[in-house]
Amino acid sequence: MECVTTVSYTLLINGGMTTSFPAKKGLRQGDPMSPYLFVLVMEYLNRALKKLQIVPNFNYHPKCSKQHITHICFVDDLLLCCRADRISMQLLMKYFEHLSSVSGLKANMVVSSLYISGVTTEFRQKLLVELHFSLGSLPFKYLGVLLSATKLTINQCMPLVEKIVARIFLLPKKVVKLAQQSAGTSSGMAQRRIAAILKLLWAISQKKDTLWVQWIQHQYIKGKDLKEIKTPRQASSVVRKIFEARQWLAPNMDRIQTYALDAKFSIKKAYMDSLPQYPKVYWKSLILSKGRIPKHQFIMWMALQPRLATIDIIQLWGIQVQSECVLCSTDAEETLTHLFFECSYSKTKWQKLLQWIGIQRQVRSWNEELAWLANITRNKHPRTVIIAFIFAATVYHVWMERNSRRFQQLKKTTTERLKEIALQLHIVG
Ligand SMILES: [Zn+2]
Repeated sequence: MECVTTVSYTLLINGGMTTSFPAKKGLRQGDPMSPYLFVLVMEYLNRALKKLQIVPNFNYHPKCSKQHITHICFVDDLLLCCRADRISMQLLMKYFEHLSSVSGLKANMVVSSLYISGVTTEFRQKLLVELHFSLGSLPFKYLGVLLSATKLTINQCMPLVEKIVARIFLLPKKVVKLAQQSAGTSSGMAQRRIAAILKLLWAISQKKDTLWVQWIQHQYIKGKDLKEIKTPRQASSVVRKIFEARQWLAPNMDRIQTYALDAKFSIKKAYMDSLPQYPKVYWKSLILSKGRIPKHQFIMWMALQPRLATIDIIQLWGIQVQSECVLCSTDAEETLTHLFFECSYSKTKWQKLLQWIGIQRQVRSWNEELAWLANITRNKHPRTVIIAFIFAATVYHVWMERNSRRFQQLKKTTTERLKEIALQLHIVG
């Protein structure tokens, strides 16, 4: 303690050095020495409290005896714990106050509380008066988050939710309510939460050398197989949640090891694995590329499904309509494959647009064109973005021309349509 209680300062004033003087109020704010001194002092406290192990009258908190835990530190917060009997508490306070006497550091009693249970009201009152503590109750806020041994209620969480929402932006109440509802039920949020809990389960399965894992091992697992034991009913809700997360790995709990890489758990990997897997479509990159006009995107999406109501599909619904293609002067039946690009109208249009951006190639069938586009749109080069844009625009304009000719008897020339596409491309940039 000698080295931390004899701090002295020398100031440089107008280039001249003052004589050194002792510090009365510790270090200045932000002094680089501060964290080192803090660690040194806490280490002193740590060693002083460890001496309680050999004091015969001292009793540990019932849940802390196996690990000989008397205190837990986090940054400058200190949690002291022991059994709720007078002698143990007096001893704990005596050892703690020893630090005050040697270092001059005093606990701020205004922000310190006593959490006690399993004792009579009279005994509790006596202790509070004797130790000058105020009575604390759970849940309490720590670093802005509520700490509780039981599951938090919605009302307890609401102040936190409101604070977060208010910080982001002001939203109408109805919107906030909707967001809260969807956050609670959306599978994405739930999956992310599960992936984060799996990380804790993995730490337990690995018997990580951290205090909380060791504590859970001693309290609940007790050398048994993590896969076999039941979720401890008497444990806090957080611990129960970790144990319950095993169901997400069933039937093969060893799967959890696949989420770890180089002894580090990847929440991302666990999350990705928990998402439903669907067969991949080869035109994924075509539909996902950016800078598309929404109406073009929609019609292309419908064509890709394929869900465009072409005549062959309308006839399946029992509706009788003129089946010939309205775009070319042949009597070919209007189907998706005819419209794209067996039809001379659409074929010419797509061909001209490709030539316009400097691509000389023979236009083939719908599937062949899709395969070609899917392949080239994999890279995000500006040129491929333009090709993808023009393709979506072509599909859209062919479909619009078909609709206006079929239902409104209106006709636009190919040149007009091509001009429109060129204009739209320039607007999108
Ligand atoms: Zn046609």
